[in-house]
Formats: sequence, C-alpha cells, structure tokens
Amino acid sequence: MDDGTLQTNAQAAALKAVKGMNDILPNESALWQAFYRTAEYVLARHGFAYMQTPILEHTQVFVRGIGEVTDIVEKEMYTFTDHLNGDMLTLRPEGTAACIRAVNEHHLLHDGPKRVWYQGPMFRHERPQRGRYRQFHQLGIESLGFAKADADAELIMLTHALFKSLHILDGLVLHINNLGDAAHRRAHKEALIHYFNQHHAQLDEDSQRRLHTNPLRILDSKNPQLHELIEAAPRLADYIDGEAAAHFETLCQLLDALGIAYQRNHRLVRGLDYYNRTVFEWVSDELGAQGTLCGGGRYDPLMALMGGKDAPAVGCAMGIERILALYAAHFQAPQNIDAYLVYVGEAAQKAAFALARDLRALGAHIVMHIAPQEMQSLKAQMKKANQSGARFAMILGDDELSKGVISIKNLRHEHQQQTLPLSQVNAVYDHISASYI
Ligand code: AMP
Repeated sequence: MDDGTLQTNAQAAALKAVKGMNDILPNESALWQAFYRTAEYVLARHGFAYMQTPILEHTQVFVRGIGEVTDIVEKEMYTFTDHLNGDMLTLRPEGTAACIRAVNEHHLLHDGPKRVWYQGPMFRHERPQRGRYRQFHQLGIESLGFAKADADAELIMLTHALFKSLHILDGLVLHINNLGDAAHRRAHKEALIHYFNQHHAQLDEDSQRRLHTNPLRILDSKNPQLHELIEAAPRLADYIDGEAAAHFETLCQLLDALGIAYQRNHRLVRGLDYYNRTVFEWVSDELGAQGTLCGGGRYDPLMALMGGKDAPAVGCAMGIERILALYAAHFQAPQNIDAYLVYVGEAAQKAAFALARDLRALGAHIVMHIAPQEMQSLKAQMKKANQSGARFAMILGDDELSKGVISIKNLRHEHQQQTLPLSQVNAVYDHISASYI
C-alpha cells in the first residue's frame, strides 16, 4: 500500500483481532511454554517424533479426511478461493487429515509403522464462548501402521502420563467406547434408523435431518429432551463381536493392568466418519460445557480413503487452551532473571554491554537497563531493577568503573553489597547464579 493517505486513515482506526481469535500475551506465554516443554518431554520418552504440516491445505484434504456430513465440513471451515490460481483452500480445522496427507505424500510408512505428533493453530467458525474459539491450538498424536490394541493402550497411557505431569489428572475422567468395524456399525445403524423412525415425532429438527445422513450423531445430541429416547436406543455394543470385540477387551485389560481408570461410555461416538473400534475422550467437569480436553480413537480406514496404502492407525488431539485453563492453577511462572544491570555514564555503558554479553555466554539471564530517553539517574534505574523481579542488581557507576569493579546487590535479601573485579566474569557469574539464594 503506497498511498500515504490510505495508510494514515487505516492507522487512525483502532484495530482489533478477529472475533474468537486470541493473542497470547507475555504474561501468559510462560504457561504455554511450560506446557509445550512438558509435552515434548513426555512424547520423546514414548518414542514419538515431531512433524509439522502447513496451516493451509487443499479443501479436499478435509472433505475427504473428515467426511462431508460432519459439522466441521458442513459449516465450520474457513475456505476460500486462491485468486491467483483458483485453488480451493482451507485453514486446517484439525490435524489428522493433514498429517495423513503428508504421511501418504512422503511414503513415511514405507519402512514400517511410525509414531508422530504435531501441534499448532486450528481454525473453526464456531460460536465463540469460554473454551471454544475460532482459532485454537491442538496437540495431535498419531500411531500409524499399528493394528493392535497395544497401540491404543500406549496412546492412552501417554495422555495419562502427560496429564499427570501437568498435575491435572485428578479432575479428569477417561471415557472409552468400542465402535466396532464397518459391518457392526451398519447392522446397528439399520436398527437405529428403525428405532428412531418409530419415534420420529419426538426428534428435534437437527436429529430428523441426521436420521438420513448420519443417525449415529443423534446419540451425540446435547438436547435434554432426547435424553431418554437416546438412552433406550439400540446399543452398538450389542452388535459387535469377533476380532473387534476382542480388540476392545485387550485394551481394557491393558488399562486395568496399568491402573488407568476409565468409564465405558456407550454414547461416545465422536463426530467423524472414519473412526472404528476404539474411541476415547478425557473430560473435566471444571470447564463447563466445553469440558472435553482430548479426544481420539482408531481410524483404520482413513489412510486408504485419502489415497494412500491401506494402513491401520490410532490417534488423538487435545485442546491446549482447555488444558491450560486447568494447568494454570498448578503453575507458577519462574522468576528466572538473575541480574538487572544498571550503569551511569557513557564509558560505563560500553563496559556494561560487554559484561552482559560475557555473562549471557556463560548462561546467565541478564536484563540491561535501557533508558526510555536520556541516561537515567542511578536511583531511577534501581527502581526498575526492583520491579524487574531479578534476584540481583549489578551496578556500574563512575566509581566502580574507575576501580575496575562491579557492585552486586541482592534484591531479595538484606545481604551486604558485594564488589567483584570486572575482569573476573566467572566469579561474577558464580555469584549471581548461586543456588542458595
Ligand atoms: P476434535 O478435533 O473436535 O476432536 O477436538 C479435539 C480437542 O480440541 C477437543 O477435545 C478440544 O479440547 C479441542 N477443541 C476443539 N474445538 C475447539 C474450539 N473451537 N476451541 C477450543 N478448543 C477446541
């Protein structure tokens, strides 16, 4: 925009973020970083490798990967035409479809199964409320190429370990269910359609529509008036047998052996078409309506559905904002500034910059005083040092400079002020990083 007038006008208006899309401000970022650090650590200990896909994909990735008859694809995607070439593009609403697109495109399973994870912003045009945003962040975990229930158990065990590390496990309940295989669901679906048709007049508008598109979703309805009708509906569990039943039995046995408590929730179906056998969710009752922290399950048909080689898989995604809403109560932001460096005079300024550089190279966290305009008085600088949260103030005035020393004042305790030679950077470092403070 090279039109000066236009630019001035644009600057005059108060600019705001898009509704439902949040900034992560400096006073919140330590919490986010602590979460990512913990997650990275737990994932690495389970042998999962990080991967990253673009935020934009061809719309077809999600239409095929999530399913046409889903809330996400029907009404929540940010889709637009790339006016440079006419491509239909979509801001990713979730991570699995894009991950599978990448795995297929790069033949990642050519030498065997893979355990991967990713994280980043996702976009859904939902009605914003507490715990529900239009840009939110997910951490996704996928075990690709593993057919057996041990992979399902490992994934749940991993999420359990992560929530334990974050000290939020106590308030969470693990719901699990078995969706069986396609033939089981077909038989159940027919029974459901028959049942709901018999009670057609009792269904709300949404459910009447779903009866012919995706009747399983009726079971997911939050409408309390449908509660009784749904409770009495034919249960999928009664239609599952053979390997699919044994798969779920093995999962339950592994979870029992690990002492991981769970609730069998027959109503848990998850919104997406491609799930089979295991589905699970971690739910908190402290977050109001948006209490699901993490959801996942097995999706054996998806790889082939997206044009890749047939391969089984199981995965899950967790909503980071919701996890942080719980984790915040257990998190104390670290005060990790070792020293605030104040100085008076231009000669001292040069020496101070060099000292800060040398101390940082040794590993110290140093904040240097930067005056808003003119060089400030020692008193004004010391006030800033006290406000900074640093453990020490390091002072380099005319007097210190002429003697070739630095004064170090403990800001947390009434210790005597120390003076050390400027040339002994290691001694200064030892002093300000000593752990007894
Ligand atoms: P889903 O991909 O819908 O299974 O979502 C997985 C997890 O992402 C959920 O359990 C939530 O924790 C989180 N999540 C989904 N949608 C939103 C949203 N609009 N805002 C915040 N978190 C969300």
